Amino acid sequence: PVNRSDDIRVARMKLPVVVEEQQIMESIYENDVVIICGETGSGKTTQVPQFLYEAGFGHPDSENPGIVGVTQPRRVAAVSMAQRVATELNLSSEYVSHQIRFDSSVSKKTVIKFMTDGVLLKEIAKDFMLSSYSVLIIDEAHERSLNSDIAIGLVSRIVKLRREKEINGIVRPLKIIIMSATLRVDDFANNPNLFTPSPPVIHIKSRQFPVTIHFNKKTPDDYLDEAFKKICQIHSKLPAGGILVFLTGQNEVHALCKKLKSRYPSNSNQLESKISKEKTLIAKREEIDAGSFELDEDPDEVIEQVDSPVDESKIEDDFYLENDTKEPLHVLPLYALLPTDEQLKVFKEPPPGHRLCVVATNVAETSLTIPGISYVVDSGKVKERVHDAKSKMQSFKVDWTSKASADQRSGRAGRVGPGHCYRLYHSAVFDNNFEKFSKPEIERMPIEGVVLQMKSMHIDNVVNFPFPSPPNSQILFEAEKLLMSLEALDTNNKSITYIGRMMSAFPISPRFAKMIILGMNNNVLQWIIPLVAALSVGDPFVRDLENGIVNEKDSQDSEEKREKRKKYFQTHQTFAGKHPDSDSLKLLSAFCASEYSSNIEDFCNTHFLRPKAIKEMKQLKAQLISIARVINPKFCEKMKFDKVQPPNDSQRSIIKQIIASGFIDQIAKLKPKMSHEKAFKYQTLLSKEDALIHPSSCLFNESPPEFVVYEELVQTSHVYIKGLTAISES
Ligand code: ADP
Ligand code: MG
Repeated sequence: PVNRSDDIRVARMKLPVVVEEQQIMESIYENDVVIICGETGSGKTTQVPQFLYEAGFGHPDSENPGIVGVTQPRRVAAVSMAQRVATELNLSSEYVSHQIRFDSSVSKKTVIKFMTDGVLLKEIAKDFMLSSYSVLIIDEAHERSLNSDIAIGLVSRIVKLRREKEINGIVRPLKIIIMSATLRVDDFANNPNLFTPSPPVIHIKSRQFPVTIHFNKKTPDDYLDEAFKKICQIHSKLPAGGILVFLTGQNEVHALCKKLKSRYPSNSNQLESKISKEKTLIAKREEIDAGSFELDEDPDEVIEQVDSPVDESKIEDDFYLENDTKEPLHVLPLYALLPTDEQLKVFKEPPPGHRLCVVATNVAETSLTIPGISYVVDSGKVKERVHDAKSKMQSFKVDWTSKASADQRSGRAGRVGPGHCYRLYHSAVFDNNFEKFSKPEIERMPIEGVVLQMKSMHIDNVVNFPFPSPPNSQILFEAEKLLMSLEALDTNNKSITYIGRMMSAFPISPRFAKMIILGMNNNVLQWIIPLVAALSVGDPFVRDLENGIVNEKDSQDSEEKREKRKKYFQTHQTFAGKHPDSDSLKLLSAFCASEYSSNIEDFCNTHFLRPKAIKEMKQLKAQLISIARVINPKFCEKMKFDKVQPPNDSQRSIIKQIIASGFIDQIAKLKPKMSHEKAFKYQTLLSKEDALIHPSSCLFNESPPEFVVYEELVQTSHVYIKGLTAISES
């Protein structure tokens, strides 16, 4: 018996998916696999798990005692949806729980579990039959995240195995529900490699209010400035209703929020932003036990880590608007790297008399339905990772989004009533330059990690794996080649080796896992583990673009600003050491230094570091240690991992060799410098790309070593090598 509050009961009745409850449940009883398609906001994510719960799924004494699992591509969605469903069912997080990397509320009583799709992959690796589940909902399948594509391929096999398997004479089938927002379901629905017979597709007829689309007459040079003006116009001229703005990265989001807050100030705004700066998420979580490894990377977070600076002066913030309003605006940022509790603020009512304005990246496109939005302002742009399998070149490109995404975005304005979407580009650009759908992530990401996971599950013939849309064979070939060079795969039959099996236990890139194995064998594990934790989490250094510490040098700078800049460079020099030769070692010393401090927040503030990143490194480090203890108990028993001393010279050189082994295929050689050239150039050994040292490197402005290994080859305005370690002395 479910005990919902009156408010919730009323709100539920309005959701289109609730009307279809009976049809959905019948379909699930009659079929092992069901596809549900419906507009964002129609209630799929919050309601379908409740239908199952009310039908007895997950109850210990029912026919379907296994729990209800729901996967999400984004961490923030897994957390917030679990909270929402718990509230609606009037249950605690012990019953409706979430699990994301390093944060879990799962208990013995859990009935419904929201998790990232990366967590699910790790669960499949532990228990291929997924025997603790009776239903698995793979949500947001249209996003085509790498992990969710792989998960769908895997469950297509697991469903059959569960039908064949009897336990005590009883077959306990696994039900699969694939949910998607756009109508591009053919890759799942009519794909005989995946599911035969074809699963039924239930279309939710949604009661979406009409959204009027307004295209710009002219595509502006600067969409940030254009967005600012559009928001001012909406806020001063148009009736009540929240505004949702789509931009591409966190720096843009911050720049725009800042200008909006100063034009339409609100006391609560100023107070809140001050508090929010100082406060970050302190994840409450249970001890990490050696059984809860997960391979989990939020691709949005990776993209945001490489976000480029924004020139705020391009936003003309004092432009004149006739009859401009004095009403306050409740401005909230929303992007993946924002601490979770900050993200969840968008669901709260704005303070009285305030109009809500959420400035977001594409996080808000489908996974979160922000209440009360009547106006959407769409830059039409998205930042995406592009990965070239052959050169291993990464680039993060801001480009036009797809037609399907633009329609998703505009749809966000039509949930509460008729809405308006302002597309900041010309309609001809939409017609001619927008692809129909966005590309699946599997075509845009390095996949050696998932290939190793698959091999560890005895899926040896990866080419025959039922991918919803198979990656091209070059991508698979390059992934296997790298794994062979890391000795994770046998060079003859490409099956997993003993080393590969150990590597697959670590929830990190195979390159880093190999470094851990080498760290054990060379007695430098106490540094390799924190190093790998730090490398996996990514760049923690705050380049303080907001205050222009790094970029501008202005003679009018205040004394305070100059002091701060001086301190910034000193801090970086301290981390890099007297003779900087490795960005990885610089990162290691920053992370290790933070461990000496009793107050991480303070330490991060005074050392230009992101506390969220440092905390995640700490958590990952603890997890890696616990795995290492399982794999090699004797060796790890005596080892001390807390407050390690800096490595001595010979240990440093071993560590650098290990870094080089992890990036064995990513070596670059210095090119002879031509007299007219300003900067030193390198050439990558394998792919023969010419590249410059990235300005963020501690080797930038130093005398260049002959050979370096690089973590990344990236293309922005130039081709750069990033994350460098000199290896020339050996
Ligand atoms: P879908 O999955 O089909 O996109 P959802 O189930 O996510 O739809 O959302 C259904 C409704 O629940 C939306 O109107 C949304 O605003 C509301 N909702 C979702 N999460 C929350 C929350 N944390 N607080 C308040 N309302 C929420
Ligand atoms: Mg949803």
